[in-house]
Amino acid sequence: MRWIVPLLPAMALLSACGSVVPEATKRQSVARSTAVFSPRPEARQCLAQLGATQANFIPMPDRYFERGCSTLNSVRLSGLRSDDAMLSLANLGPVTCPMASTFAAWARYGVDRAARQLLGSPLVQIETMGSYSCRNVARTARRSGHASANAIDVSAFILADGRRVPVLGGWSGGSATERKFLRIVHASACKRFGTSLGPDYNAAHANHFHVEVNGDGYCR
Ligand SMILES: [Zn+2]
Repeated sequence: MRWIVPLLPAMALLSACGSVVPEATKRQSVARSTAVFSPRPEARQCLAQLGATQANFIPMPDRYFERGCSTLNSVRLSGLRSDDAMLSLANLGPVTCPMASTFAAWARYGVDRAARQLLGSPLVQIETMGSYSCRNVARTARRSGHASANAIDVSAFILADGRRVPVLGGWSGGSATERKFLRIVHASACKRFGTSLGPDYNAAHANHFHVEVNGDGYCR
């Protein structure tokens, strides 16, 4: 795990996962910091668990935005650990720590292993259409999980052999194996996330899987 936010009391706790922060990085981070923040105890516990997955991330200060939107207990997630490599993430904004932890487990145990078994190649990157966005669920007055950084829209999976398996096109138009892979990946999301929506839900989800920690197993 790469830990580059300085001056955190949590440093000692998180150094247990084996990261060593170079002095140069520390100085650079201190110079860039405008405020020192200390995650709340419950947030620290999640950060420690996320660190234990060997994810690369930077904890972010809590922020409240207008219209009831916020990024609380959030991280900027740049890489996840698979069984034997790092997975990169494209186009991802801030996500809450619980969302990042669930996503890390899904990427490793749900997506990467399915890619190896079905498609014969490990996963190297997950392409997303972002995470935090201050908006409502379409055509409702209800805030989306994106408005609290508790949701990610996943658009494609990149494999080590160079293949790109997109949700759009792949769900109903890819090879039989790719279609099966996407369905297995979607089903494993349903087991892990509170809400998982895909192309079968509605036309708005034709090009991505919406995965979110909120919810009680809503799977479409
Ligand atoms: Zn979404």
